[in-house]
Amino acid sequence: MATATQAVRLEDNVTRFVSQTRKMLINGKWVEAASGKTFPTYNPATGEILAQVAEGDREDINRAVAAARAAFESGPWSKMTPSERGRLIWKLADLIEKHTEEFAQIESLDNGKPLTIARIADVPGTVDMFRYMAGWATKIEGNTIPISAFGAKYLAYTLREPVGVVGQIIPWNFPLMMASWKLGPALAAGCCVVLKPAEQTPLSALRLGELIQEAGIPDGVVNVVPGYGETAGAALAAHPDVDKVAFTGSTEVGKLIVQAAAGNLKKVSLELGGKSPDIVFQDADLPATVPGVSSAIFFNHGQCCCAGSRLYVEEKAFDKVVEGVSAEASKIHLGPGLDPATEMGPLVSEEQLKRVTGYLEAGFKEGAKATVGGSRHGDKGYFVKPTVLVNTNQKMKVVQEEIFGPVVTAIPFRDVDDLIAKANNTVYGLAAGVWTKDITKAHQVASKLRAGTVWINTYNIFDPALPFGGYKQSGWGREMGHEVLELYTEVKSVCLPIS
Ligand code: NAP
Ligand code: MG
Repeated sequence: MATATQAVRLEDNVTRFVSQTRKMLINGKWVEAASGKTFPTYNPATGEILAQVAEGDREDINRAVAAARAAFESGPWSKMTPSERGRLIWKLADLIEKHTEEFAQIESLDNGKPLTIARIADVPGTVDMFRYMAGWATKIEGNTIPISAFGAKYLAYTLREPVGVVGQIIPWNFPLMMASWKLGPALAAGCCVVLKPAEQTPLSALRLGELIQEAGIPDGVVNVVPGYGETAGAALAAHPDVDKVAFTGSTEVGKLIVQAAAGNLKKVSLELGGKSPDIVFQDADLPATVPGVSSAIFFNHGQCCCAGSRLYVEEKAFDKVVEGVSAEASKIHLGPGLDPATEMGPLVSEEQLKRVTGYLEAGFKEGAKATVGGSRHGDKGYFVKPTVLVNTNQKMKVVQEEIFGPVVTAIPFRDVDDLIAKANNTVYGLAAGVWTKDITKAHQVASKLRAGTVWINTYNIFDPALPFGGYKQSGWGREMGHEVLELYTEVKSVCLPIS
């Protein structure tokens, strides 16, 4: 951590977090794992151990689910009014905002992302999500429904009730923000939660647990159990007393979650991988498009499920756009997240470093060429140079599979039909970008893309009010907006004769 800490003074709570073994939150108490085991979380800028964390496993998941069940069935949460619930969620948002610098430092140290980005994106995005969802707590309504059964008069209405105890499994790319995408709507709907953060980045969820207590959210309503996916995560997904599991991560693990959920047919929502096309027509405003396309792939080091990782450019503009994006890539300053000069930090782990460089090698073997980057950066930490690959085609692994690193493939297209065939030609369907001044063409293309989000002349615009999720193997269900409330509620129809 030596290089990183020189750049910025660590907040006291951050120093505390990286100097003591972190416990897990179960039923309002900070406890060790039942096994007594801990696991390390690393600083990806140096590869050194950052902190030791209690390693949750099946028994801890059992304890946490029992606490969530008690809080849901008989605890204060189910007795609270929607207005009180909303007020506590809002209070949590205020507390997170007050501790912005601290959360930004934790994210930067544990995940590797630039502190400057965590301050303006991850933490404010988290605060906004909790505030937006706090507002929904008082607005979850059913309908009154005119029915005609047997020609009689009935009063029929629906209630939207919380689905119950929810298991939430989240990834490492936006550790705090992903916790808010999951916890915000679950709490607004009145559910109780067991949250399992990613093994690579457990720290911000644990600090969030402390603020959940400080906000006055009752014991057992939110339990945070760090641990490994194959043990703690799998136990949560399979648990017979969990009513719903919400997962964000790889499509591969998403399929395991579906299988694990089959035992008690718990509800499942999935936000999975992507291989999103970013499409540039020759009439696009290139001075705005080139940096836009560059940030669509390189933001968060390409570790975004919606990263614009397949660049398609209309033939006549291909060379110019590739040259422009390559020039942008070569300007990006790599360094430790805490250094204010850093624009791109390390990948999150050694495993990701190997995965991404493995994809680069596979691409080169199949004939791809890098116009910029193409390898690891330095020999300490998990840095990969921002990379643009040309000489690529639809059949290549680097074009079909999610790399989850700062690597974009570039392919020319002839016309709209050729483009749509290529753009829709992966198993994924999460997002897409379209860059053109022809607004009719933009809408035509948007309607033909099999993707849950289409950004036109922009990219990576997120808002708590705007639903997000995937077509095809990119997931089930939509997070954010009022759509997400469907994932955390059951509909009950009530009917009585009134004549
Ligand atoms: P992952 O394995 O899918 O991890 C996501 C979450 O699922 C983590 O909390 C993980 O725990 C947990 N998990 C793993 N195996 C599990 C199982 N059998 N049952 C229940 N939970 C389980 O993702 P990863 O290995 O960290 O990254 C691999 C690839 O996934 C990336 O390269 C990228 O392609 C994709 N990914 C996508 C997103 C996204 O936002 N859609 C986010 C992250 C990664 P552990 O942390 O202990 O593994
Ligand atoms: Mg870490």
